[in-house]
Amino acid sequence: MTKAEKIKQTLKETKERRRNLSPVVYQLKIQNLSKVREGKLNRVKNNLRVLKGLKEKGYKVGGLKFKKVVSSINLKQYKVSFDIDFERNKVRIQGLGWFRVLGLHQVPQNSEIANAQLIKKPSGFFVYLTCYVKKEHFERDKVRDAVGIDFGVANKLTLSNGLSIDFEVKESKRLKRLQKELARKKKGSKNRKKALKKLQREYERLTNIRRDIHNKLLALFRHYGVVVYQDDNIKAWHEGWFGSQVQHAGIGRLKARLRNNLATIPVERFEATTQECCVCGWKQKLSLSDRVYHCPVCGNTINRDLNSAINILKKGFDLSHNQVVGVGRPELTPVERELVAKILGSNPYIKATTLVEAGSPHFYK
Ligand SMILES: [Zn+2]
Repeated sequence: MTKAEKIKQTLKETKERRRNLSPVVYQLKIQNLSKVREGKLNRVKNNLRVLKGLKEKGYKVGGLKFKKVVSSINLKQYKVSFDIDFERNKVRIQGLGWFRVLGLHQVPQNSEIANAQLIKKPSGFFVYLTCYVKKEHFERDKVRDAVGIDFGVANKLTLSNGLSIDFEVKESKRLKRLQKELARKKKGSKNRKKALKKLQREYERLTNIRRDIHNKLLALFRHYGVVVYQDDNIKAWHEGWFGSQVQHAGIGRLKARLRNNLATIPVERFEATTQECCVCGWKQKLSLSDRVYHCPVCGNTINRDLNSAINILKKGFDLSHNQVVGVGRPELTPVERELVAKILGSNPYIKATTLVEAGSPHFYK
């Protein structure tokens, strides 16, 4: 076998092996930086800054773009450019030595380590570790075959099992204050640099909270066989007056992650979602202020969004109104209830309530 053939063979084997694996990125925070080592890391960071400068010359960067602050360096080869000591919670970076890190416990045993990135953020240095994890690792305790999701405006989801989830992260008062402080500082001054750093940290904190919310929602949805959701044009929302709220929630990003990571059935936008009775199929117009759907035919009285979520689920499976019994029963099983509390309960910005049992606010609190 020639060398080229050997490489081809290895690549083929890797591809084959990874068919049953999912790529996951773990964030590891570098701990206990001594002065000397911080100096070393900063030197690396400064080298990155030069690169970044070149990049900025190539691209037009208007105003303050906080994402541009993140500088990174690729660590391509495991055991060469970086190494991991799982027992001692340490990561070695080529040319810099071993560092104690936080977060290695997240990596499941027997996962295949692919590559890593060293990243500088306002709150410190991180290693982003990409691993290939066995798919079985994610396929655990299915609680229900399918769930329908109604993405309301702004930061609200309603599930066909009666779960209503709110997750608004507003721009904090601190952020606004820091923005004002920065504006007052003289350009090029040391104090301006300090203020900028504080502001960047606050941005990072808010971004982390939002990412955590999305992670938790996805972790919950993973427990369903199939997720049915309405994939309509998010752009239209951006242009409307819900614009800023939608951007904060990043619903588009959340939907993209749903699509890419879980078994989903996207359902096109259709009018009947809100108009149809989920029990008997009767159609009537609802005004925006009607929060409850009253069906004059079968007597069904149900929360407007829950009715939509059940209709979305039905649409996903092309079920008629009399076939939906059991699939979209709007009730939370004890197992589901426990799961919701376990997964969503640790993020104070997520509020989950069940719409079916009246008067049960935030049941995991
Ligand atoms: Zn009805």
